[in-house]
Amino acid sequence: MSATTPAARRPLPLLTSEQIAGLKPALADVIEYRKSGLSLNHVIGCPLDCGYCVRHLFDNFELKAPRRLMSDEEAVQALIGHRYFRPHKTPIQLFNRATDPMLPVVKPHLFAVLRALDERGMTNHVLIITRWRVEPEDCAVLNSFRNLRLTVLVTHSGIDNPAIEPVDSAIAARSLATLYQHAEHYRTVLYWRPIVPGLNDSDEHLERARELSAHAHATVFTGLFFRREIADYYATNGLPMPYDDTARRKIMPEVAERRILDFFHVPDRPDPWGALFRKTSCAVAYAHGEADYNGHVGIEELCDICPADQVARCTAARVRPDLEEVSAAARQLGATGPVEITERAIIVEGLDEPPRYFLQHGFAYQCHDRDKPHHYRQHGRAPIGWAAENGPRTP
Ligand code: SF4
Repeated sequence: MSATTPAARRPLPLLTSEQIAGLKPALADVIEYRKSGLSLNHVIGCPLDCGYCVRHLFDNFELKAPRRLMSDEEAVQALIGHRYFRPHKTPIQLFNRATDPMLPVVKPHLFAVLRALDERGMTNHVLIITRWRVEPEDCAVLNSFRNLRLTVLVTHSGIDNPAIEPVDSAIAARSLATLYQHAEHYRTVLYWRPIVPGLNDSDEHLERARELSAHAHATVFTGLFFRREIADYYATNGLPMPYDDTARRKIMPEVAERRILDFFHVPDRPDPWGALFRKTSCAVAYAHGEADYNGHVGIEELCDICPADQVARCTAARVRPDLEEVSAAARQLGATGPVEITERAIIVEGLDEPPRYFLQHGFAYQCHDRDKPHHYRQHGRAPIGWAAENGPRTP
């Protein structure tokens, strides 16, 4: 199949500087460092209307028609010139905050950015998350990139309440199958989320996810971001409230996790849970046959469902970093107080998430804020749904 870019479309309109000045500053800032990578978002706006969309956090939910904040080339320059970007090392995410990258009007910009990065010889991981249509001709374009380590994550929740999720989950299911069937130079991951107890965790939902996972190089399951702005939207629109409270981190209750793990468990196969992961970067790394770039292997209990050869890979790649080197890097980023390195993580004070992710990805070792401890087993998730409110502190 040839890798011709699908029929040329007119580029998306650019917002004027006055319009950009009227956006929330965080939305106008096209680059955000997130745990799975440095995220480029110079297209904003989406018609898919998922009720739990993070665009609520940016007051952007009403912008249905995607618009650009800058040209693709300017965006690429901003990304590779960013102070936290490291060629071949920093994982990248494209259009994962304010639009869907596979919308027909957005896709040409996605491909243009991928092409620009690939032509520069960048071998960084690139994560693309979609719930929209992916056709065989799209796969041909995705296969045409020679340098990037590309992963397409397909969001599938199975939520069938159209008021919460108007897009038919069957679209994502077809896209996943198409991507998997045509994958040569990229990998595809079933992004099973957001899982909400009582809404999409029935046996039928779990069975469907298990079927879909056969069409993916890996599967990751995760919970719901339920922040105040999203809760307000639910209340205003009379949607069933998934939780009584909101949380800074994703909510993945212990009981729901247990149900999923039990459902996927096949005791007499070599890897009893197959290619099922709790963390996005673990699924991406596994799909490419590499160790996790977030160093989750330090949080041993996360790895208890992981395939044995992957545990061996992550363990072999793990190097406890040198305290002096880490301290110097952390100080340069503005860390205050003592820097500590434990078996699980680098512990810092005074650094917010972007510089912590910079350290984490640089050393492939978890980097935590002393004031926001991760708790045993509920690692990186909200305390909601875990019996011991906050659980024991990690050692
Ligand atoms: S061994 Fe642990 S860190 Fe590595 S991919 Fe598996 S779960 Fe993730």
